[in-house]
Amino acid sequence: MFESTHIPARTGAGFDLRAGDRIKVISPHGHQVADFFAFNAAEPAEYLSARHTLVSSTRHLYPRQGQIFLTALRTPIMKFVADGAREQHEMLLAACDPARYSLLGVSGHHASCGENLQTAMAQRGVVITEIPQPLNLFSSTRADEQDNVITHPNASQPGDYAVFEALMDCLVVVSACPFDVETQFPVNVGGPHPIDVEIERAEK
Ligand SMILES: [Zn+2]
Repeated sequence: MFESTHIPARTGAGFDLRAGDRIKVISPHGHQVADFFAFNAAEPAEYLSARHTLVSSTRHLYPRQGQIFLTALRTPIMKFVADGAREQHEMLLAACDPARYSLLGVSGHHASCGENLQTAMAQRGVVITEIPQPLNLFSSTRADEQDNVITHPNASQPGDYAVFEALMDCLVVVSACPFDVETQFPVNVGGPHPIDVEIERAEK
């Protein structure tokens, strides 16, 4: 039994997962990044930490199928169980936020992954003051041979997906990244586009 959620372009959505539940993040149009955050449901100050994952679990710069992701307390929170996007993921770029759009010369309000996270968590009574490093799904940002971080035009394809299994009861937020500023960061080509999510509940 799947629970499907359509996340319109530029917005985010929160999901309450029990240990064993699976979440499939799908890019129906391709060429679109989805920012993925996870928090311990029992203690939301404990979040999925890319840096702790890198040193104590994966020893790898990029999310890969089979990896276990850890919280900042180094507790397993999420397993990457199926990659249908040819390893086009990273955890290098911070989530976009109002300050980033301001630096890029945008005047007035611009939707952001940081705000989408805060809104989804506020709906669960959780105030987020610091935005964790997200898993950037369907992203073509990479380090080059000189270790420069380069964002190539987003090469993800329609129907690309990534499936994660919760290893503890957790809150997950997925943001359809609103980035649309003409820069050297073509993270959402021709977009922003929506993202779809399917939840598969574990057998009770
Ligand atoms: Zn974003």
